[in-house]
Amino acid sequence: MADLRGVGMTSQRTRNRLAERLREQGVQDELVLDVIRSTPRHMFVDEALASRAYDDTSLPIGFNQTISQPYTVARMTEVLLAGGQPGKVLEIGTGSGYQTAVLSQLVERVYTVERIAGLAERSREILKQLGYRNIQFKYDDGNIGWPDRGPFDGIIVTASPRTIPAGLISQLAPGGRLVIPVGTAAEQSLKLVVMTDDGPVEETLEAVNFVPLLGGKV
Ligand code: SAH
Repeated sequence: MADLRGVGMTSQRTRNRLAERLREQGVQDELVLDVIRSTPRHMFVDEALASRAYDDTSLPIGFNQTISQPYTVARMTEVLLAGGQPGKVLEIGTGSGYQTAVLSQLVERVYTVERIAGLAERSREILKQLGYRNIQFKYDDGNIGWPDRGPFDGIIVTASPRTIPAGLISQLAPGGRLVIPVGTAAEQSLKLVVMTDDGPVEETLEAVNFVPLLGGKV
């Protein structure tokens, strides 16, 4: 993992610049922008890529996976929080742990699920090392959610299924919000599902580009 003693001096400034850029691109939630400023993204990528950690791009994290682009992390978090501050949030696809760190500073408790053992272990370790305490980890196939910890006020999925897994919708609390990319590698859009008194209501937001939500664990 990156240590960055040399670049550490500049990383607050580069984080501020990243937050400004996200604001220009349309991210409006000031709490989310504050958290982008305070989260050391360079700690979630390999040392060799650390100098690019505050570019607004996705980067490889090994195992054929990527850390999501900061704009996408900020935007999905903003959509998740738009209904009010959630208590319990479920994240499917821990990956690098960066989105997990962002969430942990904005909600009461984060439950995160990852299907690749190497990533699950590495992200757990780095998040612990950085002192984020309100996170519970599970190494499993997130298609089924985390039934015995639900219902959740928010669910965020950071990999794309063809269709929304029914189990995730059933784990939404009343008023709960599910933010999920849906589609194929060629065509994907971000969807928001809100659990209303009349059942789940789905809305399609912007086009996105995520790795696929796969099945099983490895
Ligand atoms: N939020 C992460 C995104 C990583 S990419 C980050 O910014 O670093 C998506 C992640 O979803 C990968 O780590 C991948 O292994 C994981 N994933 C894919 N299908 C999954 C499934 N069914 N259950 C749990 N995790 C899954």
